Amino acid sequence: MMALQIHPIPAFRDNYIWIIHNTEHAVVIDPGDASPVLDYLQSHKLELHAILITHHHSDHTGGNPTLIAKFNVPVYGPKQENIATVTHPVREGDKVHLATLPLILEVIDIPGHTHGHIAYFGSLPASSHGKNILFCGDTLFASGCGRVFEGTPQQMYRSLQKLADLPDDTLVYCTHEYTLGNINFARTVEPSNIDLQREELRAKQLRSENIPTLPTSIAREKSCNPFLRCHLPEINRIACLYAKKKLEQPVEVFATLREWKNNF
Ligand SMILES: [Zn+2]
Repeated sequence: MMALQIHPIPAFRDNYIWIIHNTEHAVVIDPGDASPVLDYLQSHKLELHAILITHHHSDHTGGNPTLIAKFNVPVYGPKQENIATVTHPVREGDKVHLATLPLILEVIDIPGHTHGHIAYFGSLPASSHGKNILFCGDTLFASGCGRVFEGTPQQMYRSLQKLADLPDDTLVYCTHEYTLGNINFARTVEPSNIDLQREELRAKQLRSENIPTLPTSIAREKSCNPFLRCHLPEINRIACLYAKKKLEQPVEVFATLREWKNNF
């Protein structure tokens, strides 16, 4: 059997709809728009077998009605959110069995960006190099994180910590091409971080060739992403300067960085 492949389907201005497929069957994650997905399926002669949703925002769910009308497939999505097109509500501890691919994905609750946001984590079969993979919607981005719309900074920080605790080699499939903007902010927070400087060169090169900067990895994010580095003294120091007060806990540093980025 052919190895599983994972590809980004660009949508809207800077979204990626990720598709996992072999030579016959496909699963899409967060199809905000149906037409680029239908184009991809048709040009690769693939049949859609399932849709996975991380959270309710329309740029992640808008393509569902059109795709379901054509393929009548199960739609997995967060149990804590009301999404009319979801047929299989899931939450932490649940496993999604995608038999036709074959792939099993575990559900992780990561509230903060929205109140019921979930991620899907799994390992590709040995025939596909056995890599760990994570689909985390709008929670963790390359060198950044999602805005805290419905949850609290505490929830978002805890959710990011859960993702940071996954194996270092986990490939992280984020849903937006925000990398260069995020690096611009990250370098302001941590100007002497050599890994981050290297990452900026890599991302600039890729974007100049119109190549996605994603997936990233948990290891790379732990070395470059300020929102996963709130426990470090140098990040605490600059966050205190911005907040003009002493910040005791990493979660306070996180809340400060998030507010700073909102106004950056
Ligand atoms: Zn969102």
